Amino acid sequence: MAHVPIDSGLYAGDPGAPQLVGSRCNDCGEVAFPKQDGCPSCTGSATEALLLSRRGTLWTFTIQHFPPPVPPFKGDPESFQPFGVGYVEFPEGLRVEGRLTECDPDRLAIGMEMEVVLEKFMDSDDGDEIMTFAFRPVA
Ligand SMILES: [Zn+2]
Repeated sequence: MAHVPIDSGLYAGDPGAPQLVGSRCNDCGEVAFPKQDGCPSCTGSATEALLLSRRGTLWTFTIQHFPPPVPPFKGDPESFQPFGVGYVEFPEGLRVEGRLTECDPDRLAIGMEMEVVLEKFMDSDDGDEIMTFAFRPVA
């Protein structure tokens, strides 16, 4: 059984200390996630990979109480569990949307420190575990 990223190039580093891979434009300084080959701001192509900080702050969040429509939702609606979704603001100057490891709104607060972790998204047909990133409150 292997751990397979849901999308290659989304994150890098040690699985226990993953970092999201964004990009920065060398012309205008725009930072983007996921990594962009062309700058979304000035449309230039002078972008390079940028590892985002492991931690940021929770900018806003909500709790997803029902399965998203299939497609694009790739999970199994039968085994759906509510989960948190939020935007985390990184020191590099951008906000990234992602799943939260916490789905109890009483344990989440805007402005709290969050860190990037990996969690299993689903099993692949080959028996591998497909991994995605999530944000976990820093204890
Ligand atoms: Zn640019």
